Amino acid sequence: MSLYPAARFLASAATSAQFPPDRGAEVAIAGRSNAGKSSAINAILGRRKLARTSKTPGRTRLVNFFELAPDARLIDLPGYGYASGARSERAAWADLIGQLAPRRSLRGLLLVVDARRGLLGGDEQLLEWARAIGAPVHVLYSKADLLGAAEGRRLLADSPSQLRGRATAQLFSAHSGAGLREARAQLEGWLGAAGGAQVAQKESPGSTRQ
Ligand code: GDP
Repeated sequence: MSLYPAARFLASAATSAQFPPDRGAEVAIAGRSNAGKSSAINAILGRRKLARTSKTPGRTRLVNFFELAPDARLIDLPGYGYASGARSERAAWADLIGQLAPRRSLRGLLLVVDARRGLLGGDEQLLEWARAIGAPVHVLYSKADLLGAAEGRRLLADSPSQLRGRATAQLFSAHSGAGLREARAQLEGWLGAAGGAQVAQKESPGSTRQ
């Protein structure tokens, strides 16, 4: 099933001058390289290849905008953390997402975190950035199919002390489909009427502010 059957690639942008008009509603999705962000986008939208899971060198610094419905967009932020700690990478990345901060359309941020690794440096920076601009964050602990049920429960139980009120969180697997309904409800809730959503604007079941 495709959640947004008319979803299409809109634009790649290196600077805010190339961003599409700031109209309607948009949700950004971020995560460390290899966290499973592209797989999550494809699974949530029910489109196999909308976001590429194989990376094209040279495109990794770009922000990709997808139009899901008229005036409803998903913003695919560049993965971070490859050249771990490289100052130039961090600065370029921070500059790029800083340019998103003034957008009035930005409703929330999905943060993809590998469930086996937990929150790492770049994720922390992103949570702080989102808090600074007042954007709500929902964490997808990805690749949950690789965790045992008890490990998954422990991760969720431990996450309030990690997230400290900065985000809600859930388990997610693009491969098994675990948590897919909840993740879709979160996206639809944020995009609201602009996305033609059927889901009311409320916290999705099973996710708690942590
Ligand atoms: P990105 O760099 O964050 O966009 O990550 P990708 O979506 O390209 O995924 C990185 C790797 O993780 C790939 O080898 C995927 O097959 C794998 N992966 C992504 N999602 C899942 C998942 O739900 N379960 C498992 N087991 N592997 C996954």
